[in-house]
Amino acid sequence: MVYNKKRFKVAVGGFYLESNSFVQGQTSLDDFKNQIFVVGKAISRDSAGTSSEFAGAWDTLEEAGCILVPTLVAYSSPRPPLTKEALDTITQTILNAIPMDIDGVYLMLHGSAWAHHENDPEGLLLRKIREKIGPRKFIAISLDLHAYFTKQMLEAIDIVSAYKTCPHLDLYETGTRAAEILVQSLFGQVRPKTVMAIAPMITPPEHHDHNRAPFKTLMDATKQAQKGKILIASLLATQPWLDVPELTWKAVITVDDDVVYGQREAENLISQAWALRQKFLNMTANPVRIAFEEALAMQAPTVIADMGDATNGGSLGDSTEVLRTSILSSSKGSLAISLTEPDAVIKCQGYTGQKLLLSLGTGKPGSYNEKVLVHANVIAMANSKISYTHPAALNVVDNPGLSVLITIEHPTLLIYIVLHSQPVRVIDPVIYQLFDLKINEISLIQAKSHVSFIPGFAQITPRYVLANTLGPTTANLVSLPFTRRPIPLYPFEDI
Ligand SMILES: [Zn+2]
Repeated sequence: MVYNKKRFKVAVGGFYLESNSFVQGQTSLDDFKNQIFVVGKAISRDSAGTSSEFAGAWDTLEEAGCILVPTLVAYSSPRPPLTKEALDTITQTILNAIPMDIDGVYLMLHGSAWAHHENDPEGLLLRKIREKIGPRKFIAISLDLHAYFTKQMLEAIDIVSAYKTCPHLDLYETGTRAAEILVQSLFGQVRPKTVMAIAPMITPPEHHDHNRAPFKTLMDATKQAQKGKILIASLLATQPWLDVPELTWKAVITVDDDVVYGQREAENLISQAWALRQKFLNMTANPVRIAFEEALAMQAPTVIADMGDATNGGSLGDSTEVLRTSILSSSKGSLAISLTEPDAVIKCQGYTGQKLLLSLGTGKPGSYNEKVLVHANVIAMANSKISYTHPAALNVVDNPGLSVLITIEHPTLLIYIVLHSQPVRVIDPVIYQLFDLKINEISLIQAKSHVSFIPGFAQITPRYVLANTLGPTTANLVSLPFTRRPIPLYPFEDI
């Protein structure tokens, strides 16, 4: 679109973290700095990845002739709750970088950051921005559809745009849409208002797949709702592993001025989700032993998705459940596993080419990361970053820290394990490609997500099996120790 010569000044930034309330540890400022933490003029359109929401918004705002004021891009893969220092620094850095004469703000948020001392980190940031710039300037945000969107966020912003795909493939378009509506608002072509409707439910992400009903039905309805005065329609299925008071599904609509119409559309969308709630509980995943044997019997390579230890949902990647299952198996074949094991990595130092007795996992018997002793052959060590090939995290760099490839002795299976010091997403094969593992020839490759791994591993294989494992990202939501969630909430209470 061609606009007149007026050049609006727009602050841009990103604060991207999906937290999990049920994991040990915290996400520090150093964790961001180890991945992506870019300030001010050092920021480029590609700072959050080449296909990110941030890149989409950047391109759109530049094309419209806006003067961009880069603030901060702080991006982390899903991790434990934020430290106070990290939240304070991120909030203050963004605030300080927004000048008083700004016309608009665009922020790329995940929407599910969380800290033990603060239930709503993004809401806090947005409220402070609003307090600083006043009520007349426009604030646009983009979100993951697993965002935990709050009333505080709603009150602070004008424009919301969330993904309409899961696995998430429309990052760029989501940022583009937020920026397009921001530009139209700046030029007085629309008067954006955002409204929200709530359904008291959370659902396991196994069925958050836009290729299959029931999620497909709902994402199609969301796309269809986005027309005319409905500038952007979003349906937020939320991240279910957050222990927070406003944990529910939400429909969020940015409407051109007519809030009554917008609210009606939001209620219509959320009531469709509510009507389908029971369909999300139809588990197709098998217990790990059955899933393991089923996957091993399939043509190589096949992916086994470890649902309870989904680093893509904030788990630490330290589950030994698939490993322990493989040790007990008498089937033939080979498998590749990834494990966050900083202590074991250190023990392997200096043992390349040698054998070693290693203790993996730290948990009690029966826990997801139950301790297990293995006779390991230390194959190789590495200390380099990885760059994701998954379309939703394309060229996003992550840091596994010091890593080691081991094999463990087993009568019938060849078991490769990549041990790494820091959690990484296992939504594509890059952690295995850190070493020269010929994963195309391996029978079974472990992934750590519920749905997102499918496009990430498609370059290797379309075959996968879901394993219903224990852990902080279990599909069995009612087994988790929630203390702050709303009551009533489906499926905990039969409403
Ligand atoms: Zn998501």
